[in-house]
Amino acid sequence: SKTSDRLSVFLDSGIYRFENSNVVFIDPVRVLNLSYNRHRVSPTAYYSRFFHSKCSGQDRHETKLSSSSKKRKRREKKPHSLNERERAADQRHRQARPMLLKALECLLTATDLLAIMRNLRSESCPFECREAPLHHNEHALTELCRVWQAPLYEITLNFPKHHEPSKDVGSPIDQCNGQRIIPVFNNLVVNETISDVDAEFLNEKYILPRESCFYMSDLEQIHNLIPAESDCGFNLIVVDPPWENASASQKLLYPTLPNRYFLSLPIKQLAHIDGALIALWVTNREKLRNFVEKELFPSWGAHYAATFYWLKVKADGSLISDLDLFHHRPYECLLLGYCHGKGRNSEHMSSWSDKVIISIPGDYSRKPPIGELLLEHVPGPKHARCIELFAREMIGGWTSWGNEPLHFQKSSYFVER
Ligand code: SAM
Repeated sequence: SKTSDRLSVFLDSGIYRFENSNVVFIDPVRVLNLSYNRHRVSPTAYYSRFFHSKCSGQDRHETKLSSSSKKRKRREKKPHSLNERERAADQRHRQARPMLLKALECLLTATDLLAIMRNLRSESCPFECREAPLHHNEHALTELCRVWQAPLYEITLNFPKHHEPSKDVGSPIDQCNGQRIIPVFNNLVVNETISDVDAEFLNEKYILPRESCFYMSDLEQIHNLIPAESDCGFNLIVVDPPWENASASQKLLYPTLPNRYFLSLPIKQLAHIDGALIALWVTNREKLRNFVEKELFPSWGAHYAATFYWLKVKADGSLISDLDLFHHRPYECLLLGYCHGKGRNSEHMSSWSDKVIISIPGDYSRKPPIGELLLEHVPGPKHARCIELFAREMIGGWTSWGNEPLHFQKSSYFVER
């Protein structure tokens, strides 16, 4: 039957497409696993929140959230009239609301999928409950690329014994022991093989997906990624900026930047000569949305095309917070824009429509891997060149740039196959 087809596609790809709608459910663990053949992403490590089972006993973040949301609710009860900006935000929310409710209804009527969802976290560990990894020196990593010793730090890639012969990427693999030792900062680190490889840096182990690369640096060095040949630019550019934000937990997790820094991102220079799809994660703050529409997209040469809503649910299919909670919406937006290439028309833009992507969130601020869903909308060659800016993880076939693209590559987020 059609339903069981959809389910088997989901089990292979991590993407469940609801019939006759612009709604999909994704399991990031399955999607990410397509980048690895020697390891698997650990579902318990990925799904560190939003599972209400024995397994989520260590969920500190969750309990913290719920007590602060009680305070919030108390505060929000006070009747006050909305100011102009709040009214605009409310208007935006009202526009999206019917579509989001319909998406949720799709999910809640897909009983076969719901049954699988409940077990997404325990799929690899039916008998033992593995602790989600705890990392203490994370903040330090984001500072390291700025210290004067940065050029001295090296990463060791340990290629499996029978890897594919390497293409010429400048630094050959030592044929005897399959190692490559190269600078880790301000340097393009490439795994050109079709296998994931183990890497080591500062006594920590990392897993690098097949056919992937990262450039770990501060914003000042991003221009080193601008391609020398204009037809070597990127067809798909995903950006998740460290927006300034009042959230205290965010401040502890990574440094943020004032908006003006994002105006100078070299998006036009990174884009492919035939045009590029730009996908920008934004928060629900009205002031930010205005900035993106009136200043940021225009300065990047990006023309707005559509919005993808990421609707966040718990393992039982319920929303992570009340849909109408003003300062804590259970969804985030991905704004899609198109950078026109030379002599290209904008025909295909009209065919883009808004979409809802449903998933169970992972760690704080970690976005679901939506590359596959975006590729359907990328113009040009079938083999699109893809880059993620301010990335905290790597994906097969992609370039990841940021000051901590190795963050979610730590071996504690993986299990061996
Ligand atoms: N998309 C990521 C994910 O799903 O996990 C989250 C990205 S987070 C919103 C923003 C990232 O930008 C953080 O990793 C932060 O450390 C990084 N960042 C902050 N300031 C930076 C700078 N000056 N240069 C490079 N990266 C920076």
